Amino acid sequence: MKIDFSKNNGLIPVIIQNNETKQVLMLGYMNEEALQKTQKENVVTFFSRSKNRLWTKGESSANFLKVISIKEDCDQDALLIQVIPDGPTCHNGTTSCFANEAQISFLNELENIIDDRISNPNSESYVASLFQKGINKIAQKVGEEAVELIIEAKDNDQDLFLGEAADLLFHYLILLKAKGLCLNDVEKVLESRVKIRE
Ligand code: AMP
Ligand code: ZN
Ligand code: ZN
Ligand code: ZN
Repeated sequence: MKIDFSKNNGLIPVIIQNNETKQVLMLGYMNEEALQKTQKENVVTFFSRSKNRLWTKGESSANFLKVISIKEDCDQDALLIQVIPDGPTCHNGTTSCFANEAQISFLNELENIIDDRISNPNSESYVASLFQKGINKIAQKVGEEAVELIIEAKDNDQDLFLGEAADLLFHYLILLKAKGLCLNDVEKVLESRVKIRE
């Protein structure tokens, strides 16, 4: 990767994107040293213009950005880095520094909530208690909800059908998480099937 650092006092803009949800999380700047450190450690380090030094995002908050891929733009003077964030990226405690104007779908948000319940379990959380019962129990719940959906499909009550459709999708997301996967992984499989047929 040959990046042109000559344009802005040795700094290039870097867009940080959540690799799973594709949500834009923040914008920062890197000098050559920051990029080298980022590539070496696979954790995002910027050059902070206000601190006037290298700044590893998360150095005090522990909300690090784990690097999945680094992509340069068309003329090698900007970067797009796809990451898995350890926690909220904005220092205000929000997922992204940019307001959440429906750029992230509610299903993605729900996946984040499920993640949170699994990593910070509390006794009132249904997700946490189901997760603790293990993969067989979660899979069984998906089966039960599917059967309930089938039953409602034969009936004419739209609300009941919708309720079961939501139950199924919710438990399906939990099952994906339990397998270490997310909706985006399923989307990729479906997308690849479309391409094969084209
Ligand atoms: P952190 O790198 O998360 O430990 O945060 C250290 C300091 O960097 C914070 O106190 C803020 O001043 C600043 N900071 C953290 N995250 C951001 C961000 N997303 N955008 C701008 N400044 C940030
Ligand atoms: Zn450019
Ligand atoms: Zn912010
Ligand atoms: Zn149900």
